[in-house]
Amino acid sequence: MSGVWEEAKKHLAGGVDSPVRAFKAVGGEPVFMAEGRGPFLYDHRGRRYLDYCLSWGAILFGHADPQTVRAVRTQAAKGTGFGTATEYETALAREIKKAFPRMERMRFTSSGTEAVMSAIRLARGVTRRSRIVKFEGCYHGHADGLLVKAGSGLATFGAPDSDGVPSEVASLTTVLPYNDVAAVRRVLKKKDTACVIVEPVAGNMGVVPATAEFLAALREETRRGGSLLIFDEVISGYRVAYGGAAKRYGVSPDLTTLGKIIGGGLPVGAFGGSASLMKALSPTGKVYQAGTLSGNPLSMAAGLSVLSRLSEKTYATLEARTAPFLARAGEILREKNAVIQNVGSMFTVFFGVDRVRDFGDVRRADGKEYARFFHHLLRRGVYFPPSAFEACFLSLSHGAAELDRTLGVFEEYSAGWKRKSNSYRLSR
Ligand SMILES: *Cc1c(COP(=O)(O)O)cnc(C)c1O
Repeated sequence: MSGVWEEAKKHLAGGVDSPVRAFKAVGGEPVFMAEGRGPFLYDHRGRRYLDYCLSWGAILFGHADPQTVRAVRTQAAKGTGFGTATEYETALAREIKKAFPRMERMRFTSSGTEAVMSAIRLARGVTRRSRIVKFEGCYHGHADGLLVKAGSGLATFGAPDSDGVPSEVASLTTVLPYNDVAAVRRVLKKKDTACVIVEPVAGNMGVVPATAEFLAALREETRRGGSLLIFDEVISGYRVAYGGAAKRYGVSPDLTTLGKIIGGGLPVGAFGGSASLMKALSPTGKVYQAGTLSGNPLSMAAGLSVLSRLSEKTYATLEARTAPFLARAGEILREKNAVIQNVGSMFTVFFGVDRVRDFGDVRRADGKEYARFFHHLLRRGVYFPPSAFEACFLSLSHGAAELDRTLGVFEEYSAGWKRKSNSYRLSR
């Protein structure tokens, strides 16, 4: 047991502020990171890791990106927050509209969870309906009504995944299998649904792309049934295209939620849609929504420093780098019965399955093999997310040398390479 972990557990619940960080899914003790630079993280002992978790996708230019650091430093010197209207929020909103023109009006929050929670309240307020539809394996933050997946089956009424979520609340959430067009058509026929929320590229059960047919059916059936369609692009917005999955798939939702990349690594969320929908929010409308630190100047400055440098070209560059890397990685890891799924620069290595289309396939994947893979990588200085069912990411700071080194580490793994590095010992 390391001292830092023991000490953390004395003060933080479970030693962490977000459960996956505790390494329960892969075993062993969490690594305590102290610094980041470009594609690298450095732990509290100064050991270096090539990072493919990237603050769960929030980092696009690499850690401690000089322009972002400069923007935050400049803003901090002018004050860290005023709780008033500022031009910084307008500036970031204007920037976001270049990529997401359908977000005619938006509002910033301090997290993706809040953005989603607020978008759903707005949808319920506008439609005057209570029921929401989500999909199995999609994560939309930790608000009560969304901590629901479902047993197997078709239109299952939700049972909560977490203690503390009242079953009365969970029962307002209908959970359907991802990519299941027939189930969507059947449920939305009832015309009692306020909104359908979906990750148009699922990133929280590992990367599982929606089929074009599925997204088109969501658009068609929500329109027909008087429900709103919410794309939760907290990960995929500014990750899979300039304009997110909506742009990549050519499907327009009514409301969009963003987070992660738009804060340049600082806490943030945003939700938005047409001016006519968004005017239902307080103070112009009757749907209440607020936040002490919402749109705080540091997050706005960091976000603007990132987004103002992006264009369609950025994504072409990133994908040109990702595609050959993943193609080669796929060949190497096929030895270990793995398949790699990706959309642009977000990807997951699934073991023991051929293809993953929904949460049922995800459940069949081999989490134990992933844990072995994860710890091999960790020993060799490559940091992957500490759970089999999460997305990995590339940043614009991941260069050819880093990618080659990673492929070398994959090769060792496939070859059954076992020697332990002397600088890091595994204790289970
Ligand atoms: C991360 C994430 C959220 C929650 O965002 P937080 O900032 O962690 O509250 C919501 N939806 C999706 C799709 C996410 O990936």
